[in-house]
Amino acid sequence: MFTLPFDKMPYLQAIPLTYAAVNQNITLAVLRLDVIHPEVSGNKWFKLQFYLNEAIQQNSSRIATFGGAYSNHILATAVACKMAGMPCIGFIRGEEKITPTLKAAANAGMELHFISRTDYRNKTLLQQQFRQSGYYWVQEGGYGEPGAAGAATIHRFIPSQTTHITGAVGTGTMLAGLLKGAVPHQTILGIPVLKGAENIQQDIALLVKEPEKMKQMVWLNTYHFGGYAKHNNQLLQQMNEWWQLYRLPTDKVYTAKLMWAVFDLIEKNYFPSGSNIVAVHSGGLQGNASLLPHILKFS
Ligand SMILES: *Cc1c(COP(=O)(O)O)cnc(C)c1O
Repeated sequence: MFTLPFDKMPYLQAIPLTYAAVNQNITLAVLRLDVIHPEVSGNKWFKLQFYLNEAIQQNSSRIATFGGAYSNHILATAVACKMAGMPCIGFIRGEEKITPTLKAAANAGMELHFISRTDYRNKTLLQQQFRQSGYYWVQEGGYGEPGAAGAATIHRFIPSQTTHITGAVGTGTMLAGLLKGAVPHQTILGIPVLKGAENIQQDIALLVKEPEKMKQMVWLNTYHFGGYAKHNNQLLQQMNEWWQLYRLPTDKVYTAKLMWAVFDLIEKNYFPSGSNIVAVHSGGLQGNASLLPHILKFS
């Protein structure tokens, strides 16, 4: 089995809480998956692991996948494929526009194909066109069973006495994996970063496959800040504050909204006394490159 190398081992960063929370005996730690690798960062490392191995086993000619011009998934796939010696092709939504993300993906050897937004919607057709070529397809954002199975292995880094595990939700693949690997006393809180993304709960259930396990999920859909990649100055200021207070870097699309939710819930006494909370830092820091350079105090 091919294993993607870690640049740095993931670790739990304890976050000191205010007096009120300490009094209730609540602990918070952030699982720093962002440190694994600068490009195959966070949950992408875990989601891609089994796809890569299936592609290698099936002697696929290359891995093919989809994404937008700032996609963490596109860059992670490009770099992971390079590490595995597997050629890859990325179908990019929209007109040709080379962003820092795409430049890095191309540098890692990914072949980029730009497709119109209309064609992008019909991914099945695209997959049919390339069916003969021995492509191994990975869905947008790494959604799918091998992705969830990979994400379930994130539990290796979460102490079993953890009562609450929280994660940002895009496609829901990581959350499905966290549910699959959870022990019965754990609650998995999903913070969707898209607005009105209720159907994602069904997508998660399709991957988890055990209706009983789905009862361990709590869905908190009020922390999306207006929708995918939407943010305001308050969020950016808070990101700087977390950096100054804890040396905790976050990205504006996913992990900043996650941490906002976690601190808000702690403040509102959402967690029962004695809770041990782990927030999964799912990576994605490269996405901050789309901000003007002076806005964040970290990079
Ligand atoms: C892709 C991504 C997510 C979303 O993961 P899903 O498995 O698609 O829900 C969360 N956080 C970061 C930083 C990501 O890059």
